[in-house]
Amino acid sequence: MGILTAVWHHAIEILLPSRCVGCGTGGTYLCDGCIGRAPRAAAVGLDAAGDALDAVTAPLAFEGTARTAVHRLKYSGLRAIAPAMARPMAEALSSAITSADVVVPVPLHASRERQRGFNQALALARPVAEAVVLPVRDDLLRRLVAGTPQVDARSADERRENVAGAFGLAPGAGVAGLRIILVDDVLTTGSTLAAAASALKRGGARSVHALAFARGQLSQDVD
Ligand SMILES: [Zn+2]
Repeated sequence: MGILTAVWHHAIEILLPSRCVGCGTGGTYLCDGCIGRAPRAAAVGLDAAGDALDAVTAPLAFEGTARTAVHRLKYSGLRAIAPAMARPMAEALSSAITSADVVVPVPLHASRERQRGFNQALALARPVAEAVVLPVRDDLLRRLVAGTPQVDARSADERRENVAGAFGLAPGAGVAGLRIILVDDVLTTGSTLAAAASALKRGGARSVHALAFARGQLSQDVD
């Protein structure tokens, strides 16, 4: 999505009354009822992700309303849905972790961000951080390689290769000793989050806890 399209979508968001993407209820883009009824993600096993991640939290399964919400956020540019999506993320995080220092969104490559008009992980990270009263730091990590979209990678191995070395620290980024909450919209094999976590750990981060809105299956298109 180009900048003009993004501006146009933003104008539509402001002009039209909000409706739940799941049930059509007015006054919100994702209602508490739909969040409550959404299938929960299975416990996350990170066999493919390596050991850079200390823990992983993803409250919802990537299906039904949760999937619709992700698609509206990423592909329709409905940024206004992000705070509602962040609510179950912050709740799940609060019961999974007692303390952390910063919230870091998984960065998009600059070319992808220009195309989409915004980074959906940052859109989610902001309200999550507000809810758990931590600062957002989107200046620490860089996505160095545009790479093949994960949606085109067929296997867990391909996904891991696809993102290996894709992330690095920003010049001068001090992450030593930090306990980091690393945010993305959807987790599949965890290879993207693990690659980002590796860069943070190489910089001396004390721990990296991954947090996604939903967990998908490898066969699903989630990139
Ligand atoms: Zn609803």
